[in-house]
Amino acid sequence: MNDIIIIGAGPAGMTAAIYTVRKGYSVLVISKDVGGQTLWSSGVENYPGFRLITGMDLMRKFEEHMESFPVKQVFAEVTGIESESEGFSVHTGDGQVYQGRAIIIATGKSPRMLGVPGEEQFKGRGVAYCAICDAPLFAGLPVAVIGAGNSGLQAALQLLKICPQVTLVESSSRAAGDKVYTDRLQREGGDRFRLMLDTGVVRIDGDTMVRSITVEGPEGRKVLDVNGVFVEVGWTPSSGFAGEMLNLTSRGEILVDCFGHTSRPGILAAGDVTEVPKQIIIAAGEGAKAALAANDYLLRLEAMPPLLVNQDTGLDPR
Ligand SMILES: Cc1cc2nc3c(=O)[nH]c(=O)nc-3n(C[C@H](O)[C@H](O)[C@H](O)COP(=O)(O)OP(=O)(O)OC[C@H]3O[C@@H](n4cnc5c(N)ncnc54)[C@H](O)[C@@H]3O)c2cc1C
Repeated sequence: MNDIIIIGAGPAGMTAAIYTVRKGYSVLVISKDVGGQTLWSSGVENYPGFRLITGMDLMRKFEEHMESFPVKQVFAEVTGIESESEGFSVHTGDGQVYQGRAIIIATGKSPRMLGVPGEEQFKGRGVAYCAICDAPLFAGLPVAVIGAGNSGLQAALQLLKICPQVTLVESSSRAAGDKVYTDRLQREGGDRFRLMLDTGVVRIDGDTMVRSITVEGPEGRKVLDVNGVFVEVGWTPSSGFAGEMLNLTSRGEILVDCFGHTSRPGILAAGDVTEVPKQIIIAAGEGAKAALAANDYLLRLEAMPPLLVNQDTGLDPR
């Protein structure tokens, strides 16, 4: 039995780990990776103390800090949480089960997928979700960007620097991103840039790599010869494994109060998986708040006779 299980090792989870282990608790961090989305950032300029630092370097510093304390770590995907008489059990994709008296969920968010045939098959073989990370792999190749929000427009601008042809495919009738980016794309792209509005992706095809996408728009179906497909259609909170246990917003973010309490006593949440603005310093701060709330929860639990905690709901009837 661990005192606290933290799910996710981005800025929120690692900060929560540092705070809770310093209180003397046994802390287990279960995460798919260490660093989270910040690893994808090529330059962070708004984390105080660092004028400019790559996301990877910043996360390495968080990791070194966390690992200077006796924090246990498991690399796995959490698939479910269950209430138990003495706390919670956390299930992972590899069939393991871990017990904790309190849980902090800090699982952030992940890119939304298109859900079309070929997407899953060519993930990592032409289908990419992070232009900042993967654009250099497509130098000299024709590519498509799906989604004309700010992320899609910025991805297209970045790709234009190295790709001979960039097609931006958008399902609605106008680009949702800032005009400054669309203007720049038209100006800098010239013939090498094409914007297809009211157009959806039907399928992705290829052999060992992506070779084409089929799109459907005002002029019917078309096959575009591309070797890269950058999917930039938004993000979704990584809360699926906890959805049945906790109250979520309509967007799937975990509802928390200003201390990080979820709708379930003993389960806290922090960072991008909740409703807060999505920034590193905010995620770290929210991780610290959730850690302090977990501390309060465990102190109160220790101070009360065990039978007063309702074993089904985890609620203290007092
Ligand atoms: C390209 C890019 C650039 C950015 N640049 C900046 C910037 O310059 N400045 C800034 O302030 N913010 C920036 N951000 C936003 C910032 O990265 C996020 O707000 C921040 O990472 C959120 O931290 P988090 O800990 O809440 O979640 P995340 O960083 O998403 O970490 C979540 C962690 O949970 C793990 N996880 C998820 N699901 C599971 C599961 N089921 N089981 C186990 N583990 C799981 C993940 O592997 C990860 O380790 C950027 C984001 C991106 C994508």
